[in-house]
Formats: sequence, structure tokens, C-alpha cells
Amino acid sequence: MSCSIFLWWLALFFIHSAQLDSQLSHLPTNEMYMLKVISIILVLTGLVSIVAALRPAYLTYQVERGRGWSALLMLMVAFVLGYLSVLYVAFSTPGSLLGLGVAAILCGGGIFVVVVIQLSFKSICRAIKESERQFYEARHDALTSLPNRMHFMEYINDLLCDENSKKKNFAVLILDLDRFKEINDTLGHSVGDELLAELGGRIKNLSTPNNIVSRLGGDEFALILPVTDEAEAIASAEELADTVEQPFSIDDYVLAVDSSIGIALHPRDGVDKGSLMKHADVAMYLAKAKKQRYMVYDESKDYLSEKRLKLLARVKEALLAEEFELHYQPVFAAADLSVHGFEALIRWRQPDGSFILPDEFIAQIEQTRFIGSLSRWVIKNAVKKLSLLSDSGLDLRMNINLSAVDLHDASLAAYINDCVEEYAISPESLCFEVTETAIMFDLSRAIEVAAAIRNLGANVALDDFGTGFSSLSLLQEFPANVIKIDRSFVATMAVNAEDRSIVKSMVKLGHNLDRCVVAEGVEDINSLDTLRQFECDFIQGYILSKPMHCSQTTPWLENYLLQPKQEIGAANKFA
Ligand code: C2E
Ligand code: CA
Ligand code: CA
Repeated sequence: MSCSIFLWWLALFFIHSAQLDSQLSHLPTNEMYMLKVISIILVLTGLVSIVAALRPAYLTYQVERGRGWSALLMLMVAFVLGYLSVLYVAFSTPGSLLGLGVAAILCGGGIFVVVVIQLSFKSICRAIKESERQFYEARHDALTSLPNRMHFMEYINDLLCDENSKKKNFAVLILDLDRFKEINDTLGHSVGDELLAELGGRIKNLSTPNNIVSRLGGDEFALILPVTDEAEAIASAEELADTVEQPFSIDDYVLAVDSSIGIALHPRDGVDKGSLMKHADVAMYLAKAKKQRYMVYDESKDYLSEKRLKLLARVKEALLAEEFELHYQPVFAAADLSVHGFEALIRWRQPDGSFILPDEFIAQIEQTRFIGSLSRWVIKNAVKKLSLLSDSGLDLRMNINLSAVDLHDASLAAYINDCVEEYAISPESLCFEVTETAIMFDLSRAIEVAAAIRNLGANVALDDFGTGFSSLSLLQEFPANVIKIDRSFVATMAVNAEDRSIVKSMVKLGHNLDRCVVAEGVEDINSLDTLRQFECDFIQGYILSKPMHCSQTTPWLENYLLQPKQEIGAANKFA
């Protein structure tokens, strides 16, 4: 509509101008000259506008590379030539109203073109910036600004596709913070976020142009490091762990965190991104399970390897085929080194006679529905063993480990009661060990299950004490009457004064809260002596005895009971 009005107006203008021109042909020369100058200025303005629009049009064409923009560019060049020809005519003919009209239209057209092209160019630039921002955000983590998992995988892919780096050695490191969930749960997510952001900055500072650092998500970070061999990868992992272990000052808290690092080497542990990431992940989980700072991938320990997956698929069958065995490690009264009882420790016997240790399969079985059956099998067999021992006149205790999943099992206490009745033992002679980490999964449920066990008359121990983030209020709230100081403190207390004071404080704390205190992992005579000085109640560790097969408990007991207990140094020979 507006277009047709404009065309009508144009037609009327030309007709009218032509009529006026014929009437005004007698105009004085200087006025005609004025018309000519104005026409030239107008055409020139239009020409300059079109020329000015060429650059943004060309830049847009370079970005878009579409046919439309190339046609528009050619049209604009043709316009420039057209404007030049009109300019030539305007110069070489006398001024007229018609010429002025044409010049005004050309001027308006030129300005219109430059405005439209500039506006389109600006909105295209804005769209490009926006898509670049979205592209960046899709590949970077908002909290730390580090590349995210997707971007990290692209980096590995690029390395593996590049003919030069394809042949080179590099290491993929996956770092996961230990017990970060507890920081989040106890101090709040904002403290957790600040810790992650600071950690991201620290790890970023370690990066060199050849290193790639990424936050995979949550408290998991990954690095690609160009290394020549395993030793170099280990040295980098140590450096990384040192960096993480420097205390963090966040708000009013000083937080110390540990990490577990898994290392996979290219090409030894994988030649594609999937297997490199999977193997670094497996190594990281093993490092966590074994409470080590780092672990290099080792296929024989890979629980996700085909062999291990097949093994896990056999848990039910293995239970029926009695492939699981309980080994028993004695627990001693610290005061006189008399045998207080045993801790039942599960092992999975393999056809070649070797054993898989619990650290390598419990966590995996915990992810299947068989963990409940396995725990019940352990409880039943440990209770049975205790009843056999008491039948031979020995008044001993039995410690049984529970997993996190058991602490959700409302019928566990009833099952324990059934076993107690079936084997006619006293519930007081049982102690169920739960780790701080396990109870933190669902504290209120864990408290309920533990309270039900205590109501039976059985004992509950807080295992691996000191490794979690449990607060003093948790210690008061959780109905455990025993604490077991984690072996990581005990093992080093002979050489590390700080660990020695920690152990001393833990014993004091336990006693002040009316808990029995057990020190596990005692491996040397000095630690044993010190623990006795600290008045720790019970001792467990290789210095006195390693876990033993169930057939060995009776001969071991007979032998031990015959020995004079005063000679503590001689205790070593029972190990
Ligand atoms: P835990 O409950 O802390 O058990 C003690 C572990 O420390 C045992 O390892 C034991 O062999 C080891 N140990 C004892 N004294 C020493 C020592 O002086 N030095 C050193 N270096 N180690 C010592 P094990 O048998 O490999 O068990 C590992 C973990 O597996 C246990 O840690 C426990 O958390 C879990 N576990 C064992 N049996 C069971 C079970 O029947 N059910 C469940 N859910 N977990 C179990
Ligand atoms: Ca234990
Ligand atoms: Ca323990």
C-alpha cells in the first residue's frame, strides 16, 4: 500500500517536474547553476553512502557466505557505477528540477542502503557474539570457567586425531575430592561452591600451554598432561595432590580436603577417549577405596574390566556356591593384651585359590541388590562362628562390618535378633561397625537402624573414625558406643607427632563421651606402647595378628593363650 502510494507520488513528481522544467526553461543561469550544484551534492552523498555500505556488506558476506549477500554486493557495485554515470550527466548538463528530483531520490536511496546494511550488520554481529557466548558457555563450567566435560572430550579427540600427537605419550588424570559432600551438607552449598572455585583457580595455575585442565562436574576435575612415562605422570599427580591439600580459607572456615587421583596413560592404557577416561576413572575409584592419593590404572585391579563385570554378575551364584569366606582378625584388650574378640572380614575366593579383598568388590556390590543378602550372609556366619567359639568355653566378642545400604534396612535388627536366637549367643557379644561416610548417606535412617541394633543389646562402632567430616554433635547423636580410630592415623603415629596428638585427643574424646575406643592398624611396638599409655581400650593390627582363615582361629587361640602376655615385644611372633 505504502509502496504504491510512493510510486504514485514519484510519477506525479516527475510529471510535475517535467512540466515545471518546460515552463522554467527560461530560468536565469545562476539559478540553474544552483540546481546543478545541489543535484551533484545529492548524488555524491548517495554515492558515498553506497560506498560506505560496501564494507559492512562485504564483512557480512564473509560471515554468511550466502548467495543473497553476494548478489547484493554485485548490485551495490552496479549501483556505484550507476551513481557515477548520473554524476557524470549532472556535471555535463545544465541543472533542472527533474535532475534535482532524480538526485534527491538517489541520495535517499544511498542513505537507505547504508542504514539498512549497517543495521543488519550490527544485528548479525550481535547474533554472532551471542552464539559465541553460548558456544563458550556450553563448553565451560560457570563456577570455575574451566573447560567442561564436553570440551575436555573434544580436546582428547583432537589429540587422538592429530597425526603428530597421536603417536605421543600423554596422561589423563581424573581428580575427585574426598568427602566433599560432607562439606556441602555441613557447611552449605555456598561454601562448597567457593571451595570448588578456588580449587579450580589453583589447578588452572598449574596448567602450562600444553596441559589441559577441566572441571568434569561436581567435585571432579580432569587434566591432560604431556608426559614421557609413568614416573612423570606420578610426579604431576603428587604435585596436584599437594596443591589440593593446601588449606582453603573460606568465610570463617579453614578447610582441609584430600583428593583421589586416577591416572591413565596414552597409548598404554587406551588409544581412544572412551577407554582413557574410563580407565582413569577406575584408577581414581581404586585410589579412593584404598585411601591413596593416586593410583595408576592397572588392568588386573579394574573392577569394570570385562573379567570383573562377569565376576560381579556372579555374586548371587557365588553366595550359593560358598565362594565368600570370612577371615577373622583378633582384637585385643590394650591393658593386658588378652584376646577380646575378632573382626569378621570378608574375602572372595577365586578358583586359583587367590582372594579378592573387600575393598575391591564391596563398593561395587553395594550398587547391586545383592548387598543385603551378602551382609546377611556375613552376619549369620560371623554369629555362627562366635557360637562355635563360645561352645569351646571362650567368652569373646565378634565385630561385623555393615555397609551403607544396610543402614537403610529397617528389618536388619530383626534379622540380627533371629541369628542371635538361632545360635543362642548373647547380643552383647556382637558389635556392628559402620563408617562415618556410610551413616552420612541418610543420617536419620542410620540413627534409627543403629538404635534398633543397640536396643537388642548389641554394640555399634563408628568405624574409620577421623576420616569423615562428622561433627561432635553427630558423635553425640549417633547411638554408637564404640569408636575405632582409623588406621591412617595409627599407622603413622610412631613417626608423626601430629598424628600422635590426634590419636591421643580421639581417645580422650571417646572416653569423655563414654565410648570405648579401639585403635586399628597398629603395626609397630612403639605405637602399641603409646596407645597403652593413652589408655586406649582395644588394639587391632598386624603387630599382634593379621586376619586369619576361620580354620586357624582355634589353633591360634590355643597358641596365644599359652603365651605370657607381659612380654609385649614377643607379641609380634603371633602375627
Ligand atoms: P575395616 O573395617 O577398616 O577393616 C580393617 C581393615 O584393615 C582390614 O582390611 C584389615 O585386614 C586391615 N588391617 C588390619 N590391621 C591392619 C594393620 O595393622 N595394617 C594394615 N595396613 N591393615 C590392617 P580388609 O580385610 O581388606 O577390609 C577392608 C575393608 O573392607 C574393611 O575395612 C571394611 O570396611 C570392608 N569390609 C570387610 N569385610 C566386610 C564385610 O563383611 N562387609 C562389609 N560391608 N564391609 C567389609
Ligand atoms: Ca571394620
Ligand atoms: Ca576401619
